[in-house]
Amino acid sequence: MVKIRWLGHAAFIIKIKGKTIVVDPWISGNPACPIKSNELEKVDHVVVTHDHGDHLGDGIEIAKRDKAKFIAIYELALKAKDEGVENTFGANIGGWFEVDEIKYLLTPALHSSMIGEPVGVIISDGEKSIYHAGDTGIFEEMELLGKMYRIDVALLPIGGVYTMGPYEAAIATFMLMPRVVIPMHYNTFPAIKQDPNLFKKYVNKIAPKIEVKILKPGEEVEL
Ligand code: ZN
Repeated sequence: MVKIRWLGHAAFIIKIKGKTIVVDPWISGNPACPIKSNELEKVDHVVVTHDHGDHLGDGIEIAKRDKAKFIAIYELALKAKDEGVENTFGANIGGWFEVDEIKYLLTPALHSSMIGEPVGVIISDGEKSIYHAGDTGIFEEMELLGKMYRIDVALLPIGGVYTMGPYEAAIATFMLMPRVVIPMHYNTFPAIKQDPNLFKKYVNKIAPKIEVKILKPGEEVEL
């Protein structure tokens, strides 16, 4: 069973194959996050899509606290190592790699970053797969990702300004063809205020078979 809990913005806790993974753990200072950093359960892996503060967040501290593996693009993993994280796994955009029997694949993301390239990530237990897009604009290869990897759940930013807005994310959903799509990266602060129901309305029109799950921060879904 796979469990996905939204912590607001782009932060998610994913429980898969007995492991607890936190992606983009912006907890301290995240106005949408329902927990404090010391309330975060023990995690096995910390996955960071890029080094902007609202994604790297508490990642380095959490990895140190829990002796968790810090998984990111190569250069960002090096930075984590320099800052004292014991276990890092630096990878790059390309094929599958395995960390403690969890399969990961880094995807492109159309965005910016200070260290290394920004990425998205596909996480799989070999049966179910979750695509966290990171921060990204829409890009054509999403269609290829959808064809190559059977994506069960796509976590897509819809806030606009820094990422796709509701319309672009709905088209991205159509290209990725996941079973379920969960919008993220909106309503954290005024600049990215969005109505997730508008996203849902677009998806229902463009790709009516895909289920749109709108979560509240703190809410969890099971696959
Ligand atoms: Zn960013």
